[in-house]
Amino acid sequence: MKLIRYQTSDQEIHSGWVLDDKVGPIRGDIFREYQREKATIPLEDVQLLAPVRPSKIIAIARNYAAHAAEHDAEVPEIPLPFLKPPSAVIASGEAIRIPPQSQQVEHEAELAVVIGKQGRWIALDEAEEYILGYTIANDVTARDLQRSDMLWTRAKGFDTFAPLGPWVETDFDPADAIMTCRVNDAIRQMASTRDMVFSVQKLIAFISSIMTLYPGDVILTGTPEGVGPLAEGDVVEINIERIGTLSNPVSASG
Ligand code: MG
Repeated sequence: MKLIRYQTSDQEIHSGWVLDDKVGPIRGDIFREYQREKATIPLEDVQLLAPVRPSKIIAIARNYAAHAAEHDAEVPEIPLPFLKPPSAVIASGEAIRIPPQSQQVEHEAELAVVIGKQGRWIALDEAEEYILGYTIANDVTARDLQRSDMLWTRAKGFDTFAPLGPWVETDFDPADAIMTCRVNDAIRQMASTRDMVFSVQKLIAFISSIMTLYPGDVILTGTPEGVGPLAEGDVVEINIERIGTLSNPVSASG
C-alpha cells in the first residue's frame, strides 16, 4: 500500500492512500489505527506533500563500497551516521535550491526507511516490526562544504536538501531493488540495494542503540556510486523499483 500526505484545494492536510492513479482519504493515525476510504480522487488533483514529518533524519555515510571508493574513503567497520534537520525536507515536485554558499551541490539517491513505532535498543531480529515502510530520498549535499568543514551539518543541512517521497510503500523488500538516478534524463546512478554494506535491520539496531526512534523518523541508507553535480534548471529523478519516482527541479536560492 502507498501512503501519502496531501493537500487539496481546501488547503487542509490529509493522510491518504494511492491505488493506481486514484487517491483515497485515510481516517485516523497511520501509525496507530486508521480506516481507508475508497480511492476516487484523481492523483493529479491533489498536491503531494512529503509523506511523513520526521522528528529526525538519520543518514548513513559510505554504506555502498563503490561510493566510498569514489571519494577515496574506506568502508567503516560500524555504521557511520549523521543527522539531517527536518527543516530540509521537501516533497516530490518541490525545488531543490542551490544555496549561495556552495559551488558544488550534488545528488545522492537513497532508499529511505520510515519508522512505524517508538523503539530503543531494538534487537536485530525484531527490527522489521518497527518499519512502517519505505520511501525514496535525495541526500542533497554541498560537496565543497563537506570537504572544507570538519562536520557535515552545513553541507547536508540546507533547506530543501532532503527531498522525500512520493509516498511510503508498506509492501517492499529492500533485499534487491534497483535504484536509478537521472539528471535531465541522463543516468547518473544505478545500483541494487543488495550492495548495501549494513542491512536495514542492522542500521535500525545500531541507531536505536544510540537514540530513541519515533514514528515517522526516517533513515537514509546511503548512496551508491555515481554522485554528481546539480545546476539551476536541472531535473533530478530517483526511481526505486516497486516504490516509484521522486522528482525535483533545481533552482537558485529564493
Ligand atoms: Mg548520503
